[in-house]
Amino acid sequence: MVLKKKQIYMDNAATTQVDKEVLKSMLPFFSKNFGNASSQHSFGLCAKRALEDSREIIANSINAKKEEIIFTSGGTESNNFVLKGLFFKHKNKGKKHIITSKIEHDCILNTCKWLEEQGAKITYLDVDEEGFIDIRSLEEAISSETLVVSIIHGNNEIGTIQDLEKIGEICREKGVYFHTDACQSYTKTKIDVKKMNLDFVTLNAHKIHGPKGVGALYIKEGVKIDPLLHGGGHEFKLRSGTENVAGIVGFAKAVAISKDYHIEHMSKLRDNLIREILKISGTKINGPLGEKRLCNNINICFGNIEGEAIKEFLDSYGVLVSTGSACSSHSLESSHVLKAIGRDPLEINSSIRISISRFTTKEEIDYVLRIITKVVEKLRKISPIKI
Ligand SMILES: *Cc1c(COP(=O)(O)O)cnc(C)c1O
Repeated sequence: MVLKKKQIYMDNAATTQVDKEVLKSMLPFFSKNFGNASSQHSFGLCAKRALEDSREIIANSINAKKEEIIFTSGGTESNNFVLKGLFFKHKNKGKKHIITSKIEHDCILNTCKWLEEQGAKITYLDVDEEGFIDIRSLEEAISSETLVVSIIHGNNEIGTIQDLEKIGEICREKGVYFHTDACQSYTKTKIDVKKMNLDFVTLNAHKIHGPKGVGALYIKEGVKIDPLLHGGGHEFKLRSGTENVAGIVGFAKAVAISKDYHIEHMSKLRDNLIREILKISGTKINGPLGEKRLCNNINICFGNIEGEAIKEFLDSYGVLVSTGSACSSHSLESSHVLKAIGRDPLEINSSIRISISRFTTKEEIDYVLRIITKVVEKLRKISPIKI
């Protein structure tokens, strides 16, 4: 399928366009600088230097050390790596309990499900109606068997940003490891591994205008974990395999060019769109408003209209949005996140997620608002259920 000319892409929580500067930074590593970073000659050294410079950029961005960053193939791998690596390292020491939440990405939830079959005990914490975990419930769930607390930083569906500093404090007090999946929040809100007492952080590139298939796992110095891939001993013997140098260079470039004013720009557009959509009768916001919401996330429940119908209609006008997360939408099961915040099946099916980027303009927001107003009016007229 060839994409139509004018498309307004508002599904940036699923993936983002590669920034031109990112692409430019990557190209030499597919052509003249194609060396293997492990080779002991000038080609190898060139690749090695690019790899280590990239590691430093990513480490600095979260207040970590260079040696604490392991490159992976993305968010899914980093999340699998941390939970499986910790579990297998510690399972014979009576530490088989993992605490997570009901609103994690599928790659955390399905890893946990698999680990349960391997003998792990998992607690899935509830969240409130805005998607926040309850600190007291977390505290109560931690026992002498608890190995790690893994909580998503910015939620990919409803944008809720958890208070990692507070969670980190509890984990420090109780002496358990703390991991966060920060794929959505990275570069959109501050991550400081020291302030937040983090032992592990999952990051990826394709949500921040970098390439697909590359990510990182921050592992705090001194913390022991089993390797995920065994082989030639790359990435501090934790993740063997010839490094994706071009991808890693692009990842670091994406981090380096992200700016605080992008956050301000997106927050402003987000707040405008939310405010205007909520003027339509019968609409509700999913997730919190303001500072504790990802700057690019808008998720609205339209009451008695099928989200799928809204999505299709918007698509016919060249506007691309999503109903639920990209990963779970091929299972057609309704969103576990919206369910966890207490939405009923009708509300879940009438919700759409609009996720903008730093490239989104005021004009695009106005256009989308016009189309949404039109489609809601039209679909409400034909809906059998009146609200
Ligand atoms: C996209 C995403 C992932 C998966 O990352 P991939 O790099 O696509 O494997 C994991 N967690 C969250 C929160 C995400 O948004």
